[in-house]
Amino acid sequence: IPTEIPEPHRNQDRSQPDAGTRDRDIPALGFQNTPDTDPAIAANRAWGDRVRAQMQRSTLGLATVEASVIDTPAQLQEVIDGAVAASEAWRDLGADRRAEILHRAGDVLQARRADLLEVMGSECGKVLAQGDPEVSEAIDFAHYYAERGRELETVDGASFSPDRLTVVTPPWNFPVAIPAGSTLAALAAGSAVIIKPAPQARRSGAVMVEALWEAGVPREVLRHVQLSEGELGSQLIGHESVDRVILTGGYETAERFREIRPDLPLLAETSGKNALIVTPSADFDLAARDVATSAFGHAGQKCSAASLVILVGSAATSERFRRQLVDAVTSMPVGQPWDEQTQIGPIIGPAEGKLLGALTTLEPGQSWLVEPQQLDESGTLWRPGIRDGVRPGSQFHLTEYFGPVLGIMTADTLTEAIELVNRIEYGLTSGLHSLDEAEIATWMARVEAGNLYVNRGITGAIVQRQPFGGWKKASVGAGTKAGGPNYLTGFGTWTDAPVSV
Ligand code: GLU
Repeated sequence: IPTEIPEPHRNQDRSQPDAGTRDRDIPALGFQNTPDTDPAIAANRAWGDRVRAQMQRSTLGLATVEASVIDTPAQLQEVIDGAVAASEAWRDLGADRRAEILHRAGDVLQARRADLLEVMGSECGKVLAQGDPEVSEAIDFAHYYAERGRELETVDGASFSPDRLTVVTPPWNFPVAIPAGSTLAALAAGSAVIIKPAPQARRSGAVMVEALWEAGVPREVLRHVQLSEGELGSQLIGHESVDRVILTGGYETAERFREIRPDLPLLAETSGKNALIVTPSADFDLAARDVATSAFGHAGQKCSAASLVILVGSAATSERFRRQLVDAVTSMPVGQPWDEQTQIGPIIGPAEGKLLGALTTLEPGQSWLVEPQQLDESGTLWRPGIRDGVRPGSQFHLTEYFGPVLGIMTADTLTEAIELVNRIEYGLTSGLHSLDEAEIATWMARVEAGNLYVNRGITGAIVQRQPFGGWKKASVGAGTKAGGPNYLTGFGTWTDAPVSV
């Protein structure tokens, strides 16, 4: 049930390239990115206040999650059979009609921006400033994939046959944009979808799915399920009628999926352990800000988050840079997402295991530049921490923690810094702050990561402009990037492979 809060005013133009993006890399595809809500407009600030008030009351939180709850293998079979049967009509509808529905889905998501923000905040602790671009991204996926879907029918000399059934298993950290992106891609390609949101993000997934249904995606084609036990999940993944599984989650989960079904066609974006390098030529003010926001936006719970900053040469011994960084980080208020000033919300559950260790225990040679601090009894609110002196090959250098803790490493040269980055098993995002063209060229040529960002933060990829996807253990089975021109080609089979652009 949509709430009464209408759309915010829009005046920002995200269609203009930002710093670091080159015009010539942006294909003209008749697509414009959706603007975020501009808080400089007074009416939008009042709108934000109303959204936060609802977030605190969690009005939508009490709404029933409309999903098929599956308790038995027979029920699972029924849902799978129903989706496979419905897939034929969806495929035969043709790309143009599907595009109409998906464009409408983008419009409904826009109309329900307030609801999506409310539920992401109340359910997953996402603050408005983080959730708002996430909704824009979901809307972008709808419009962008709608158009890319048409292209699948016009590839010369090759014919595309969409999968019949795609299973989408999204994470809780981007509880709207990631499930929306995977679902909309599969739908645009012509496949039916069974989506199983992460248990921590069921309501956010439900509101997103509702928006797609409202836009005209048939309920038989898009099935939203909850599974009462893990064994049913294995049966779903392993089911022979499932043509493809889209996973965004940990590398271990991808491995488990492959154990369940070794021949599983899997498109998986998995773990990240990402670093931002700062050289002596960098603008330290800008670098400190970008490190802080990349490390601690959504409390560090992003695959794309900065977990390491590597300071090169004289930057490594710069008092000023460390001071700036400490200032930037300690001035980010921690609190509940419905409090206006909050920049860092609660983590998804009490810190435990590996993450708790990273928030409380130093390795040899390390010291706290900023010591993490638990702020509430539940163990979910943490003042973020920065550990200095992370040594090459140490646990913190190589392990993903997915939470509010950053490590500082040092290197004598840029080449050495790049080697430290490339020693990490994952290669998702990577950043460089440098004002030296030669350094930028060296780094771009050598660093092993899917998404490279120069002189900006390393999170917040934007559809079409920064297609998103990793290398090495950050990606399993995924050849093409989400939000990019070739993503949809992975959702079916080709009689003759198209030439990638
Ligand atoms: N696409 C998101 C970004 O660029 C990250 C998604 C994730 O954490 O999986 O920040």
